[in-house]
Formats: sequence, structure tokens, C-alpha cells
Amino acid sequence: MDEFEYSLNQADLNADFFFVASTMNGSRAVERLVEPGASALCKFCGEPVKFTAKNRTRQVIANVYEKGTWNRVEHFHVDCYHHLGEPYGQPAA
Ligand SMILES: [Zn+2]
Repeated sequence: MDEFEYSLNQADLNADFFFVASTMNGSRAVERLVEPGASALCKFCGEPVKFTAKNRTRQVIANVYEKGTWNRVEHFHVDCYHHLGEPYGQPAA
């Protein structure tokens, strides 16, 4: 299976991943509103990246590639991601 086919299969799991994988070939980050019911843990601080109706919370979702192949998705609070020095580049809006 080549990398592109692999990417397409993974896209069912994560729409953001599809966007990233179809346009880029390395680890990238996107910034997104947190969806209601989301329960990802921030990779940096370990706290849930939670939806709140009051604050339209934003998160950074990073698609991490290792050796040119998609490896995993990591979630961050926007502030945490910036605190880390944007390890996967500036998040695409
Ligand atoms: Zn955090």
C-alpha cells in the first residue's frame, strides 16, 4: 500500500487528517474549534481539551509523521501548543 492510499483510509477517522494528508507530506498542525463532546487530552499538560459553550475554545490538532508516514494525531490547547514553541509548525487556520 503506498502512502497516499494509507492516508485515504485513515481519513475516515479524522476529517482534519484528510485535509492535511492530501496536501502535505510532513507533520503539520491545524487550529480548530473544539467540538461538543470532544474528549482528547492535551499532549502537553494532560488536561482534557474540552468544549465550553461560553468560550469558543480552540485546539491545535497535529498530524505527526514519522519517516514520511502518518503516525498519530496529537491534541493541544492552543496556549500549550504555543508554549511548546509550535513543534509542528504554525497551525493552519
Ligand atoms: Zn494543554
